[in-house]
Amino acid sequence: MATAGKVIKCKAAVAWEAGKPLSIEEVEVAPPQAMEVRVKILFTSLCHTDVYFWEAKAYMLWQGSLTIIVESVGEGVTDVAPGDHVLPVFTGECKECAHCKSAESNMCDLLRINTDRGVMIGDGKSRFSINGKPIYHFVGTSTFSEYTVMHVGCVAKINPEAPLDKVCVLSCGISTGLGASVNVAKPPNGSTVAIFGLGAVGLAAAEGARIAGASRIIGVDLNPNRFEEARKFGCTEFVNPKDHNKPVQEVLAEMTNGGVDRSVECTGNINAMIQAFECVHDGWGVAVLVGVPHKDAEFKTHPMNFLNERTLKGTFFGNFKPRTDLPNVVELYMKKELEVEKFITHTVPFSEINKAFDLMAKGEGIRCIIRMDH
Ligand code: NAD
Repeated sequence: MATAGKVIKCKAAVAWEAGKPLSIEEVEVAPPQAMEVRVKILFTSLCHTDVYFWEAKAYMLWQGSLTIIVESVGEGVTDVAPGDHVLPVFTGECKECAHCKSAESNMCDLLRINTDRGVMIGDGKSRFSINGKPIYHFVGTSTFSEYTVMHVGCVAKINPEAPLDKVCVLSCGISTGLGASVNVAKPPNGSTVAIFGLGAVGLAAAEGARIAGASRIIGVDLNPNRFEEARKFGCTEFVNPKDHNKPVQEVLAEMTNGGVDRSVECTGNINAMIQAFECVHDGWGVAVLVGVPHKDAEFKTHPMNFLNERTLKGTFFGNFKPRTDLPNVVELYMKKELEVEKFITHTVPFSEINKAFDLMAKGEGIRCIIRMDH
C-alpha cells in the first residue's frame, strides 16, 4: 500500500475526560513496529464494558467488535498481509506462552486483556498522536479510529468472503456468550440451562446453549422487557427474580426437579453470580461466570455447595483462542449454523458516535454497530 511506512492522518474519536462525549479529532497514526499491524477500520461497535470504562477513565479509543483490513505490517509479521480481512480481539494469542500452548486456556501471558496499559507492548509507546502529543490506546485494539495499530497476536485472519458488516459482531460479546456455553458450560443434549442476564452476552449464551442441544433454556432477568426478544435466541422459559418472594435458586430448583444442569451468568452482578452457582443441580451441575464484577465484589457461598459436587467456572472471551478459534466461529456463520444479523439492533455513522453511547445509556437491548466514514 502507498501509505506503508508513513504516518497516516485520519479521524478518531478521543475521550479527553471520563464520562464526557467523545470528540472527533484528526490524529496521526504511526507505522507498525515489530510484530504489529496497522489496519483500516470499516466497522466498530460499542459494548457495555466500553461504557463502563468510559465512565471511569479517559482513554483514546475503545475496542468493541469490528472488522478491518490490514494496511501494512511490521517486522516479523508473517501470518497476515496487507489486504487480509481480520477481526481484532481485546485479548490476544501470542502462540508461544504456556497458556497459548495449553489446549485448556486462552489467557495468553503476553496479550491477555489489560485495561491500564494504553501503549504498545513492544516499546511502551503509543502509535497515536495529535500534533506530536501521544494519545493512549485501549485494551490493545483502539478501534474508534479510521486506522489503528495492534499487536499481530490480537488479530484473527478470517474468510475474505465473510460479510464484514455482519461478522464484526463476533469479535467481542457475541463470541464471549457463545463460547461460555459451547466451550465452558458444555450443556449435554437435552439438558436444562439457566442464563442470568439477557443483554448481548446472555442472548449469545442462550444461542450457544441452543446450538449445543439444550432443550430447556430458562432466561433470568430483573427486566421483563428482555424476555420477548430472548425467545429468538432459544430461551424457552423466563424467571424474573422480582416476581418471587423466595430466592431465585429455590424457584429454579422447583421448576427443574432439583436444579438446572448448567447456568451461565452474564450480568456482572455479584448476587446473580452467587444465584447462578447455587441454582445448579448437585452431583453434576456446572455454573459459568462471564459478567465483569464490581472491583470490591466478594463471592460468598457455603462450601457444602462444592462438596455436593457442583462446579463453578469463569471465562474471558468464552475460552476462544482469538487467532486459532475465531476464524472457525466466522465459518459457523458462513455455514448458516450461527445467525448474527439478529444481534445487530442499530447502525450509526462514525460522525455520530456519541449517539451510540446515548442509545446504550438510555436503551435496553441496544447492540449498535458504528460504520466508519472512509
Ligand atoms: P447488558 O447490560 O446488556 O445485560 C445485562 C443484563 O443483566 C440486563 O438485561 C440486566 O437487566 C440483567 N441483570 C442485571 N442484574 C441482574 C440480576 N441481579 N439478576 C438478573 N438479571 C440481571 O450487558 P452485556 O453487554 O450483555 O454484558 C454482560 C456482562 O458480561 C457485563 O458484565 C460485561 O462487562 C461482561 N462481559 C464479559 C466478557 C468476558 O470475556 N468475560 C466479555 C464481554 C462482556
